[in-house]
Amino acid sequence: MWDKIREKLAILADAAKYDVSCASSGSNRTNKNKGLGDSTGMGICHTFTEDGRCVALLKILLTNFCIYDCAYCTSRKSNDIKRAAFTVEEVVELTINFYRRNYIEGLFLSSGIFKNSDYTMERLVRIAKKLRLEHNFNGYIHLKGIPGASDELMKEAGLYADRLSVNIELPTNEGLQLLAPDKNREDMLNPMKYVKDTIIENREEKKIFKKTPRFTPAGQSTQMVIGATKETDWQIVQTANYLYKNYSLKRVYYSGYIPISNDSRLPALTTQVPVVRENRLYQADWLMRFYGFQANEIVNTQHPYLALDMDPKLAWALRNLDQFPVDINKADYSLIVRIPGIGVQSAKKIVAARKYQRLQLDHLKKIGVVISRARYFIVCDQFFEKKEYSPEKIKHIILTGKQTKFQKLAITQYSLF
Ligand code: SF4
Repeated sequence: MWDKIREKLAILADAAKYDVSCASSGSNRTNKNKGLGDSTGMGICHTFTEDGRCVALLKILLTNFCIYDCAYCTSRKSNDIKRAAFTVEEVVELTINFYRRNYIEGLFLSSGIFKNSDYTMERLVRIAKKLRLEHNFNGYIHLKGIPGASDELMKEAGLYADRLSVNIELPTNEGLQLLAPDKNREDMLNPMKYVKDTIIENREEKKIFKKTPRFTPAGQSTQMVIGATKETDWQIVQTANYLYKNYSLKRVYYSGYIPISNDSRLPALTTQVPVVRENRLYQADWLMRFYGFQANEIVNTQHPYLALDMDPKLAWALRNLDQFPVDINKADYSLIVRIPGIGVQSAKKIVAARKYQRLQLDHLKKIGVVISRARYFIVCDQFFEKKEYSPEKIKHIILTGKQTKFQKLAITQYSLF
């Protein structure tokens, strides 16, 4: 029996690797009744590989059978691959077994769609329910919401899972029509909206009835495939921004398209995975969520693509040199945090520290500011960069001092877009 499960595991864990939306921070489910697993505290089960992908969860598909034929997906029905499907009991067994051996701290479960959305979703829900109710499992559970799943099943899923995510798949409807014409954008947005509304209701209910069961406490996320279709970064960032604003998502994940199919609608098989672009999109996303940038400030119709050779914050600063230099001892936090070389934590420390003294360059160094980057954009007590540099010159000085692995890759990727 275990040989059969092992064989399924090899197939279904491999198929699951294309989904990057598995970061599990934000949950604080506590271990009750001496149950299994504990996701208490910060970042219980988010270990990331070097390329930013998350590990330490059992990350599998329930099945790689699928009734759909999305061109960018290995599980598409026309793909001639070995298929497999776990039973509900097998996934439960595996999770418990791996957890007891300390291999994992939780479960990330996605699936191809067999028969129909509800048939598949119902099985995902049964797995989470069995783990929670029959095995008293308190580890992290991230379930995929199957597009088109009913509200009732999404509701149940949210009662047992820490996080739910319905993949938006591609940044625009046009892209979806091209590569997954059988799929419908509304089938993805409706469950997302239901989850959002139920999270809000649940929050209100909990204020009145403390014992109301929590609904998807780590919130919802989504993922889009980048580079399979021709959308600009501006379109991608606009979509992410729309989803954050209208569906209260915790995260949007960007998954660089891995060429898997010789299909004229897709980039050639020899095309490189756009890892640099993926990284820049994460940085842009970070700027919107934590640095107070509007989507249009980062990319817009005049600048529809993120620079691959520098981060979007530096790119914005160089396009807006008229807003600099910023006086570290006087400027608002919202301006300080926009200075290249100053992160959120450093900006907060600056604002706190200057209540007691005028800050000088040495103070900034101690606070953790990257002076080699920030110096072209600040005035601070007796320090200011005397020479007037052009944006190109500043970029050259900063980038030649710091050659990252992404910049090396960027040179190749420039020719692809
Ligand atoms: S519905 Fe999901 S699993 Fe099925 S082919 Fe499309 S992307 Fe792949």
